[in-house]
Amino acid sequence: MIRVENLTKTYQRGTVEVPVLRGLSCEIEQGAFTFIVGPSGSGKSTLLYLIGTLDEPTSGEILLGDRRLSSMGTQERDQLRRNEIGFIFQSFNLLSNLNAVDNVLAPYLALPKDAAARRPEAVKLLQQVGLGDRLDHRPAEMSGGEQQRVAIARALLKRPSLILADEPTGELDTQNGAEVFRHLRSLHQELGTTIVVVTHDQRYIQPEDRILEIRDGLIFNDPQEVAS
Ligand code: ADP
Ligand code: MG
Repeated sequence: MIRVENLTKTYQRGTVEVPVLRGLSCEIEQGAFTFIVGPSGSGKSTLLYLIGTLDEPTSGEILLGDRRLSSMGTQERDQLRRNEIGFIFQSFNLLSNLNAVDNVLAPYLALPKDAAARRPEAVKLLQQVGLGDRLDHRPAEMSGGEQQRVAIARALLKRPSLILADEPTGELDTQNGAEVFRHLRSLHQELGTTIVVVTHDQRYIQPEDRILEIRDGLIFNDPQEVAS
């Protein structure tokens, strides 16, 4: 379970303060497939990066399970991010000189033994996302949809308890976008991982999904908040 309490984030642009999140609270249940939606510039990525410990809030709290991020040291947070959270970005963030398998292994390549031990799992994950015949391909030799599926396999290799995806289909056409979501859904069903997806494309949302809509730095629609 992820708990966000009274979260604020204000960016400093020169001498100008840009308040983005204004005391936002929400809860995301363990194993939920969750969408964060809202207008461009509303703070969706900001919220996702704060949950992923890629940035720190101005005030407020985030709890992952019973761990309060603000109480953790830098090293502990780095470890949490590295070992437990899988990230998927709009622009795939693959290394252009590595093939698909090595891109999946990229987080471990500095430790050759660790990478070698994980190679069979990396291949299996690529097969699972339909890329069994693309193992040797470099990013430039794959479609955008295939590259994003490599990024999904990379995120999964660490067996994360949480996957955070920021506009994962933002650079893909409809067919490739649908394919990426098809794989995210089947992995979600199989692994039960909590998945939080930022998107402005509501086509991929299904009735059973959790939707958090951000407006003016607050959650606009949360039925759970209304109920409590
Ligand atoms: P979204 O993902 O919903 O489009 P973001 O979370 O990326 O929105 O950004 C929210 C607002 O914060 C935007 O107005 C953006 O310009 C501003 N912003 C984001 N990052 C920074 C930054 N590092 N410094 C200053 N302003 C930022
Ligand atoms: Mg964004």
